Amino acid sequence: MANSAKPQVTIVGLGPMGQAMAGSFLDRGYAVTVWNRTAARAEPLVARGAVLASSASDALAASEVVIISLTDYAAMYDVLAPASSALAGRVLVNLSSDTPERARAAARWAAAHGAEHLTGGVTVPPSGIGQPDSATFYSGPREVFDRHRHVLEVVTGRVDYRGDDPGLAALFYQLGMVMFWTSMLGHWQAVALAQANGLTAADVLPHATETANSLPSFFAFYADRIDAGQHGGDVDRLAMGLASVEHVLHTHADAGVDTALPATVVELFRRGVNAGHAADSFSSLVELLRKPAA
Ligand code: NDP
Repeated sequence: MANSAKPQVTIVGLGPMGQAMAGSFLDRGYAVTVWNRTAARAEPLVARGAVLASSASDALAASEVVIISLTDYAAMYDVLAPASSALAGRVLVNLSSDTPERARAAARWAAAHGAEHLTGGVTVPPSGIGQPDSATFYSGPREVFDRHRHVLEVVTGRVDYRGDDPGLAALFYQLGMVMFWTSMLGHWQAVALAQANGLTAADVLPHATETANSLPSFFAFYADRIDAGQHGGDVDRLAMGLASVEHVLHTHADAGVDTALPATVVELFRRGVNAGHAADSFSSLVELLRKPAA
């Protein structure tokens, strides 16, 4: 039985993230109940004092605050729908990643079963869980967020509330993700090109780091201009950008490296030029990207 003097929390889902979260709560003296489809994953946590619930219903019954850390929202329904009679009065803190629309649907689903729902988007890997400088986006009812803020701060020290709309935390998470995945892919592409030329990832690390560190100044320079709809070609022109990305593509082709990514970049720049933006800044591509391709 959980010690009633201790604050209580339930963690549903024990992938690398759920395990790190359960560990963080144990470190801070919480009575931690865990549940996972593959029960064996709970063993190291049980050895540290966590209680393994025998069912999802028991896991929900154990604590008011239930942290959900599953692969996606579909997994949440797989786990919690059969236990939906135990949802009333629970606060679901859903730290699984998915789309804003699915987060909004989940908040409605939780409300229909008498539960409150906070959407979360964790911005760090498992090693960042429990760290004071790590951050998580949240959205959902402000009052629920405020009431349980001290619990959320065990997951990551910084909690970034984005508003009532349950989709907002998922949106902010996805804004980061589209940049993370494409940036990392850009880096893997550069490493592949380097390797094709006899260099190692370590050889190009300083240059890669300097290039990545230069990006925030570009974001800042273009932000106001984009918001004002100004894409004047006073600093850069898309026609120059197209020539540049073609050089990138040809460098990869010459080295015998996969060209799928640079070819896609060329295609986007070419579409911008064909849409009449040759003399505009390459920030005009935002106008193109805002709509699906014709
Ligand atoms: P994993 O996908 O590795 O594991 C999540 C858990 O989901 C596992 O416990 C797994 O159970 C469970 N699960 C998946 N499908 C089902 C299902 N149909 N029914 C029941 N259980 C299911 O994810 P992580 O722990 O790495 O991450 C959790 C969430 O956090 C994800 O949404 C991820 O996108 C997000 N995130 C992850 C980060 C990371 O670096 N790992 C960083 C930031 C966010 P089982 O053990 O039985 O397979």
